[in-house]
Amino acid sequence: MTAALAPYASDPAASRGRRHAEQPTPHRSEFQRDRDRIVHCTAFRRLVYKTQVFLNHEGDLFRTRLTHSIEVAQLGRSIARPLGLAEDLVEAIALAHDLGHTPFGHAGQDALNDCMAPHGGFEHNLQSLRVVDQLEERYPRFDGLNLTFETREGILKHCSRTNAQKLEQDEPGGVGQRFLDRTQPSLEAQLCNLADEIAYNAHDIDDGVRSGLITLEQLEQVPLFDGYRRQALAADPPLAGRRLLYESIRLMLSAQVHDVIDATTQALRACGVDSADAVRRSAPLVCFGEPMRERSSVLKTFLLRNLYRHPQVMHMTGQARTVVRELFEAYAADPQELPAAYAARTDTTRAIADYIAGMTDRFAAREHERLTGRRLLPA
Ligand code: MG
Repeated sequence: MTAALAPYASDPAASRGRRHAEQPTPHRSEFQRDRDRIVHCTAFRRLVYKTQVFLNHEGDLFRTRLTHSIEVAQLGRSIARPLGLAEDLVEAIALAHDLGHTPFGHAGQDALNDCMAPHGGFEHNLQSLRVVDQLEERYPRFDGLNLTFETREGILKHCSRTNAQKLEQDEPGGVGQRFLDRTQPSLEAQLCNLADEIAYNAHDIDDGVRSGLITLEQLEQVPLFDGYRRQALAADPPLAGRRLLYESIRLMLSAQVHDVIDATTQALRACGVDSADAVRRSAPLVCFGEPMRERSSVLKTFLLRNLYRHPQVMHMTGQARTVVRELFEAYAADPQELPAAYAARTDTTRAIADYIAGMTDRFAAREHERLTGRRLLPA
C-alpha cells in the first residue's frame, strides 16, 4: 500500500482524464495504468539502446536512457512518499520523460533541431509527448497511449511559446496552456525534474570515473562530492577505488533526497497550498535548500567542463551530429528510403524527424553507413 495522499498531491481519482474516454479498471488507479502502458510501449524498450553521454556500444557498463529513467523513478518515489505525493504518477512521468530523445543524446537532438529549423524545429520534450499522444500504435481506437492529463503535463517539461500555441489549438486548456499562462505543473512533475538532475549528476560521476575521462582526484575539487568522500573515509579509513566512489555517491544521493524532502516541506508550509490546482498557481515548490542548490550547480559546472566537453566525448558528439544531419539529408533527398509508413506521410520532414528520433544509437550508425557508404561511428 502506498501512503495517504497529501491535499496538494495529484489524486488519480480526481484526474482531468484522458483525451479519449475510457472505462476505469478494477484494481489499478489511472496513474498505475499510465505507468503500465509506458512500460509496455515500443519507445520505452528502445531506451535501452540510447545514451546520454557515452555511445550505447562504447561499453556495456555505462548508463543508458533506460537505466537512467529507472534511477529517476527510484529517486522520485523515495521523495514522493514522505511528501505524500502520488508515487505512481511520479513513476509514470519518470519512466516516460526521455521517450522522445533522439539517438546520441543532446548532440543528436541539437543536430535534428538544426535540420528541422525551417520546419518547426525539434524539441525532445515535445517529441516525448508526440510519442505517447500520436506515434505509438498499440490500441484499436486511438493513436498513442491515451495517458492522463497529469502524466502528459509532467512529460512536457519545457515547451516554446510557439509550440505551446500550436498545442492549444489542438487541445484548448490542455498541456500547452501553462507555458502561455506561466503557471507551474503538479508537484509530481516538478519532482521528476529535480530527480532527473539528481540522477544524472550522480551517474555521470560514476560513468565518468569508470570510463577514465575524469578521476577521483579531480573530483576532490568539487565540494559537494568531496564532503561525502571525506565522510565515507572517516567511517571506513581503508576505503579506496571503486568502493570509495560508490560510497561517496551513495551518501551524496541520500543527502540530496533528504534535502529535497526538507526544503520542499518547508516551502509547502510557507505558501500554504491546499490543493493540486493551488500548486499550479503557486511559485515552484519542489526544491533543494539554498546551500545544496549552490553546491549542486558547482558539480554541474564541473561535469560540463570536464566530462561533457572532454575531447573524447566532443569527438564522438561531433561524429554523431554529422550522422544525424546526413541521415536527414539522405531521407529528404529520397523519401523512398524511409519505411513505407513514413514515406506515405504528407508531412515529409516531420516524418523524417519522427523516424530518426525513434532510432537507437546503433541503428542510426548502421543506417547512416547504408545510405552514405561511410562509417563514422562504431556500429
Ligand atoms: Mg532525463
